[in-house]
Amino acid sequence: MKNKNKIITLAGNPNVGKSTIFNFLTGMNQHTGNWSGKTVANATGKYKEFFIADIPGTYSLHSNSPEEEIARDFLCFEESEYIIVVCDATNLERNLNLVIQIAELNKKTVLCLNMLDEAKKKGIAIDINKLSELLNMPVFGVTAKKGKGIKEMIDKLPTLEFKEFKLKYSPAIEESINEIEKSLPEFIDNKRWIALRLLENNNDFIASLIKYKNYDFYSNDKLIQLMQKEKNLFGESDNISDIIAETIYEYATKVKKATTKITEKKSDKDYLLDKIFTGKYTAIPCMLIFLTIIIWLTVKGANYPSKLLSYLFENLEYYIKNFFIKINLNPLVQSFIIDGIYKVTTWVISVMLPPMAIFFPLFTILEDFGYLPRIAFNLDKCFACSKSCGKQALTMCMGIGCNAVGVTGCRIIDSKRERLIAILTNSFVPCNGRFPSIIVILTIFFSWSSKYSGLTTTLYMLIVICSGILMTFIFSYILSKTLLKGIPSSFTLELPPYRTPQPGKIIVHSLINRTFTVMWRAVTVAIPCGALIWILTNTSINGVITVNYLINLFKNFGNLIGLDGVIISSFILGIPANEIILPLAIMLYSGTNALTEIGNLESVITLLITNGWTIKTALCYIAFTLFHWPCSTTLLTVYKETKSIKWMLYSFIIPTFIGISICFLLNLLL
Ligand code: GDP
Repeated sequence: MKNKNKIITLAGNPNVGKSTIFNFLTGMNQHTGNWSGKTVANATGKYKEFFIADIPGTYSLHSNSPEEEIARDFLCFEESEYIIVVCDATNLERNLNLVIQIAELNKKTVLCLNMLDEAKKKGIAIDINKLSELLNMPVFGVTAKKGKGIKEMIDKLPTLEFKEFKLKYSPAIEESINEIEKSLPEFIDNKRWIALRLLENNNDFIASLIKYKNYDFYSNDKLIQLMQKEKNLFGESDNISDIIAETIYEYATKVKKATTKITEKKSDKDYLLDKIFTGKYTAIPCMLIFLTIIIWLTVKGANYPSKLLSYLFENLEYYIKNFFIKINLNPLVQSFIIDGIYKVTTWVISVMLPPMAIFFPLFTILEDFGYLPRIAFNLDKCFACSKSCGKQALTMCMGIGCNAVGVTGCRIIDSKRERLIAILTNSFVPCNGRFPSIIVILTIFFSWSSKYSGLTTTLYMLIVICSGILMTFIFSYILSKTLLKGIPSSFTLELPPYRTPQPGKIIVHSLINRTFTVMWRAVTVAIPCGALIWILTNTSINGVITVNYLINLFKNFGNLIGLDGVIISSFILGIPANEIILPLAIMLYSGTNALTEIGNLESVITLLITNGWTIKTALCYIAFTLFHWPCSTTLLTVYKETKSIKWMLYSFIIPTFIGISICFLLNLLL
């Protein structure tokens, strides 16, 4: 950047008011939103002699997501003159985690305590002097929304005196830091911080260190030996990260306790709501009621717009076909584009978009209202028993909407180990894409003759979701005892006050940031898969339609787990989106070569029964729908979030293994 000596970097968790401060100082107008990763690239502007840099929101310097990496690299390697860590005064403990990490990194760190107006309203009083003393850094209280205290803070920066902040780790870690520090060459600055990162042995980060520090740490034999020694001492590298993270959390909790006082009691309304939503006997029933309402609204409400969209796409198809005829396009190419790419892609859009557009706003309403942290609070004990993090409850809820969104949401979990557990188990809760086919099968096989068919199906659906949740607990436990051993972090959840949701915000956040991002990813995978499905169903080898080879290949295996070759082939071909699995199976059973709408349930049941389906097949189908590989969008997201093919493969193998085992047992026992 232009003049390194004059850069002021605005860092902080998402949604703490960085952009508000940036806009106030620079007169620019950055987009404001409420979802992590909103500021996706660095924005810079000028205030007096300073360049102000607004970087993406991040919860920790150990994060892996692309935006957080931009933030991390900027903070760690772009030599800012000052770093201002903006914090939300109403949520201090969570914010302090990042403050401490940055303070360890840069001596010239300032804490900007924002949202003082909100804090005052909520009766939260923070002792700024004490905070400054405990963190060894200047602290300024501001209310960015009203522009209060911001310019005064910046104008004071050149006159401030900065002291080093040194967090004390356990004696064993301190000893290791000392030894590593000594083995680093003279010209490397910030040795203690680099020693900590080397101790964590995070390859990705070490690669960045090598790049920016212009020194190949791996060529230092003494250092490598030391790192190996530490590894033997502490076991897996994740253990050290966890110990370091835990020390930071503990200090953050201590600082918060020593500096924050809630002077007012919770409002009567909040007290009453908490009594209901987190009460011993009422919490779980309330969660189940909310879940039922959301499922019901999503499933019922999505029908109409789904039909409307498919009607629109059908009409558009007519015009495209006419256009192709007009330009004399080869009929085979026409069919490839229309029946292959176009049909699968538009099918995915028309079945995925409406439920997501309903689910995400509903979900955001609960989020804005303040209910989601209560879910995490209610389930915290269960997750603690499975040695993972209470915040996984939130990512699990997001997964009910869409697993790709759930996986992205795992960024809110700071510990890498716990984040991976949440990512690997996210697909255990059925996403919107799996709802429709499970509901169709539940309806036609289990509640067809019931007088209250809608209600019984919803109840059965609830049982299916609860089985997924139960499996999440079981497998989180298994993972934390095997692949992802480590210490559970001691993060304490704060329960924010209830707020009236803001409709404008909800539409922007849930539709633009969540729905369309996921939709776009789904479309990019649906196109090549549509092409592949067309090729398999429209070409033949030795007079046999190609897809039949696939069906025959999986016939025996399918029979072994209570299914058949067609179902397994549909699951394989349906990897772009779970929505198309049942329609694909119907298409293959009925011998057509293009996807069609499941219009009439009676004809579906007849078709399935003539093809050998029984109650057992239906049960196995539901179990396999619940537990099998995630869709390609989710797999891609797992890869993007973990940057590791290994974890992506695990996210494929684990649910598939569970699904196969359950179906095998069902087939054996029923
Ligand atoms: P960023 O994600 O850190 O860049 O946060 P934004 O600047 O986008 O702010 C997030 C939300 O907090 C926006 O709705 C702001 O209007 C609001 N906000 C920012 N500063 C304050 C403040 O001092 N008081 C209150 N009440 N709200 C604020």
